[in-house]
Amino acid sequence: MTKNKITKKIVCGNWKMNPRSLKEAEKLFNDTAKHISDIKKTEIVACPPFLYLEKLKKLSKKIILGAQDDFPGDVGAFTGEVSAEMLYNLGVRYVILGHSERRTLGESNLDINKKIKSSLAMGLKPILCVGERERNDNHDYFNLIKMQLEEALEGVSKTSAAKIIIAYEPIWAISSTKNRKDATPKDSSEMTIFIRRVLFDKFGPDAGRIRILYGGSANPRDAEDFLKDGGVDGLLVGRASLDAKKFSQIVKICEALNK
Ligand code: PEP
Repeated sequence: MTKNKITKKIVCGNWKMNPRSLKEAEKLFNDTAKHISDIKKTEIVACPPFLYLEKLKKLSKKIILGAQDDFPGDVGAFTGEVSAEMLYNLGVRYVILGHSERRTLGESNLDINKKIKSSLAMGLKPILCVGERERNDNHDYFNLIKMQLEEALEGVSKTSAAKIIIAYEPIWAISSTKNRKDATPKDSSEMTIFIRRVLFDKFGPDAGRIRILYGGSANPRDAEDFLKDGGVDGLLVGRASLDAKKFSQIVKICEALNK
């Protein structure tokens, strides 16, 4: 199944709608860059709000920039939107798509599919978020994840597979979810085995090059367990990415486990 081996693990910070000012964003970015200056084997990505991207791009070469969304259109009459091409031209290389917080705002798998295709066409690597809101005893959340993957990746070619990253984010474990619960590495590992099977059915051996991340309140205390036993190639980090020390600790844990 894993004919083409994954080489680099990845830790990606999703800053969401934080921090309040460019000044604070610069400080967070600079502090993070300082802490991770000796990292060699781990890919480090930060996804700040759009309007900080240009300034942050100039501050570090070590941290690759990602966006939190994009729009699947060419230039034109799309008020308020930012296209994949604009982001690429700014130096952005990743884009988080299908995050549960955007799905809550009404984004469908079809919307996400259009964004994935246009992002790939413009050179951005999509980080496709999938995840269930809750779990139940009949395990039908597996079907939901399968549907999210199949619909969002419909029509994506095998040759693009290596550029795609899947982030498994059980919504019930995300830090901002009310009455959240901790997910375990076993929860992650079961689901990543399933996700790899769905991806293999779609892409064949090329699926082995797709990195899968875990996201959901990842922090320095549990990062090692998820990376060792969660079946993943890295982590998508929300809240902890707003703390340069915590985020860099996670990166260092990942680096130490990278062979
Ligand atoms: C997220 O929402 O993508 C996320 C991983 O958040 P947190 O780490 O804060 O749960």
